[in-house]
Amino acid sequence: MKIEDLTWKELEEQIKNNPIFILPIGSIEQHGSHSTLGTDYVIPKYLCEQIENIENVISLPAIPYGVCPYHKGFPGSFDIGYNTLFNIIYKIIETIKNDGAKKLIIINGHGGNTAAIEDAGTILSENMNIIVVDWWNLAGNLNPIYKGGHGDKQETSAVMAIKESSVKLNLLKKQEMKHISENIKFSDSINANFQNGSIKILKNVKEIVEDGWVGNLDPSESNAEFGKQMLNDVINYLINFIEEFKKAN
Ligand SMILES: [Zn+2]
Repeated sequence: MKIEDLTWKELEEQIKNNPIFILPIGSIEQHGSHSTLGTDYVIPKYLCEQIENIENVISLPAIPYGVCPYHKGFPGSFDIGYNTLFNIIYKIIETIKNDGAKKLIIINGHGGNTAAIEDAGTILSENMNIIVVDWWNLAGNLNPIYKGGHGDKQETSAVMAIKESSVKLNLLKKQEMKHISENIKFSDSINANFQNGSIKILKNVKEIVEDGWVGNLDPSESNAEFGKQMLNDVINYLINFIEEFKKAN
């Protein structure tokens, strides 16, 4: 059920059954010329909508904005910053915790949000089980063929599975990555390889790729079928997880 459809009295009653709260968190930011600004927001929101009608599950409205300082300069990339996101998440968890919630699953759609989510959640974790699902990592664990990056086949296919008409594959741009040197090469927008080790390089995405997407899967191969199969695998995992999580206190 959605919390927005309940009265405070109904919520008070529901909380006596030790429900599982679910909270989607996204980001509105560039995903290349072909995929949407809402990519990181629509995917976790969709995943939550597929599991919110399970008995004793209560979904909270999605947080659309996130932390993305490295997309500065691309129109439509809203970086609300670590402190703002930390405070929003902290206050949401604090509120449901004071109301008696003991279980929360956060479904995250964007890597830049991870630090704020984990810090706020850990501080409030006493007497509460707070689960974080980075959906794209989970998909990659479930099946390595899904393992992708920012705006590549993984995310673009997921958006196509949800709202195919919003993706414009005909506008996709081929691009060359600007590496640091011949032997220090980016593997994504932050990690780079040198010899047999990996290091991080802090840069605005604009300095690495002109079009903004970064990933190992070719976005021109994106399709709704692949996206549907991937999202269904994630949804089935979450359904099984929730059944097991219900057994926890
Ligand atoms: Zn994304």
